[in-house]
Amino acid sequence: MYIKEIKINSFKSFADKININLDSNFTGIVGPNGSGKSNIVDAIKWVLGEQSVKTLRASSGMSDVIFSGSKSRNPSNTASVSITFDNSDNSLPSNYNEVTIRRVVSRSGENEYYLNNEKCRLKDINDLLVDSFSSRESFNIIPQNKIEEILSDKPEERRVIFEEAAGVLKYKRRKEEALKKLSRTHENVDRINMIIDELSTQIEPLESASKKAIIYKENKEKLESVDIALMVKDITNFNETLKIKEADKEKYTLELAESSKLSIKKDAEIEKLKLEGIKFEELISSLRDEH
Ligand code: ATP
Repeated sequence: MYIKEIKINSFKSFADKININLDSNFTGIVGPNGSGKSNIVDAIKWVLGEQSVKTLRASSGMSDVIFSGSKSRNPSNTASVSITFDNSDNSLPSNYNEVTIRRVVSRSGENEYYLNNEKCRLKDINDLLVDSFSSRESFNIIPQNKIEEILSDKPEERRVIFEEAAGVLKYKRRKEEALKKLSRTHENVDRINMIIDELSTQIEPLESASKKAIIYKENKEKLESVDIALMVKDITNFNETLKIKEADKEKYTLELAESSKLSIKKDAEIEKLKLEGIKFEELISSLRDEH
């Protein structure tokens, strides 16, 4: 993988659009002091997602990277940089043979990233570059003052720097992520332990309440079945008494009817005797009259 092309427009000292076409044999850019060599490095860091204003040698904010004007030129309102990687060796996890990253910033504060002309997030760019040793934190980008530092460092410190450049960074990132996950897991375990502690204090009273509830339920069921049995017995008794009373009623009704018949008969006999009595009295009084 190598950088094929860099396009800079209104970034820092580059008021006009410039295209730097590079090929795999490209070695370096030379020029007098202050001609903009470091601005090209800044442009590369910036397009790869650099967020530190200090690292980009800007003074107050990200909009400082936009061309600020000169005696003969007005300031620009936006700056953009795009970098194209040749990816024919598939170093970048992308299906394309060429990968272009573009970043645009405006004075109003808008900041946009594009991957092969499609708008994307900074995270997408970080994810793309993290495995390819091309991320902005990687030592592949070594600023001027760093070279001196590297040369004067002790061999073991130098080794650390070269190990970084050799691609240790991605493992460092993964280790950091794993450590973050581990710490989150520890936090979760602590939280769960706290919950378990809290719940375990409630277990004993809950157990006793649960036993009481079971006994209450059993007794309630027993009471219900006893109530039902009692009701059944009451109903059976009542039915039997009802039958006896109905039989009694029938018997007494018959007896009543018999007594009524007898009473009517007796009444008729009394009437007959009364009539005979009257006749007898009339006979006596007529016999008295004759004497
Ligand atoms: P050195 O050799 O000292 O590193 P250099 O060739 O790398 O120099 P740079 O430091 O890249 O040069 O460029 C510095 C120039 O860029 C300065 O003249 C500075 O005024 C100009 N510059 C920086 N930011 C802006 C900006 N936003 N707008 C216009 N010019 C800018």
